[in-house]
Amino acid sequence: MDAEFWLERWREGRTHFHQQEVMPLLCKHWPALQVPAGARVLVPLCGKSLDMPWLASQGFGVLGVEISPLAVEQFFAEHGLQPAVRDSDQGRHYVAGDIEIICGDIFELNAQTLAGCRGVYDRAALIALPADMRPAYVDHVYGQLPEGCAGLLITLDYPQEQMQGPPFSVPDDEVQTLFASRTSASVLERRDILPDEEKFLRAGVQRLDTVVYRLATGR
Ligand code: SAH
Repeated sequence: MDAEFWLERWREGRTHFHQQEVMPLLCKHWPALQVPAGARVLVPLCGKSLDMPWLASQGFGVLGVEISPLAVEQFFAEHGLQPAVRDSDQGRHYVAGDIEIICGDIFELNAQTLAGCRGVYDRAALIALPADMRPAYVDHVYGQLPEGCAGLLITLDYPQEQMQGPPFSVPDDEVQTLFASRTSASVLERRDILPDEEKFLRAGVQRLDTVVYRLATGR
């Protein structure tokens, strides 16, 4: 699953993961994390998610990272924002108000940038990556976030043999293994969403849960 796979999906408009409303599970669970006001929140693999303006509206600085320039440009255009643009070795930075999106590869994000984040919101990011990329992703991102960083991780859990990802199934035992070394991941909520998910129903998937984790680094 290389960059070209995602660039093509954005070019062709096959972006079903994009939601037309703010994620209800974010609004429900974010306040309990008590991320300090004004802190910078990392949104890896952010797409053009409406969850970013929601986080900004709650008083946080948002740092999104997204590989597709189309996604980033659509985000700012659809919100009527004219970002300032500059380049660095991490990618192209677009900044408007409290929202910055780096258009680049998450694996190019450097230690200094990660160390500046106090919160993290991972929806359809970990589960967008195939199994062989997940350990490197978790090491790179979560291994470099500062101690005391809090966040939400939202996963899907379904019989992987019944449908191909992305989005991939990342069951709880895998989450616990991936985060074992430094980040605690505790389940806040598990919800059966199969009845609402046409695509999974059509594929004959028999069980589909979404799971919300509270993440805390520096255990
Ligand atoms: N979190 C968003 C998007 C999820 S889909 C949402 O909830 O809507 C996954 C996104 O990650 C896609 O937009 C894809 O273009 C982007 N992506 C995939 N690999 C990436 C990488 N290595 N670095 C940065 N972005 C990546």
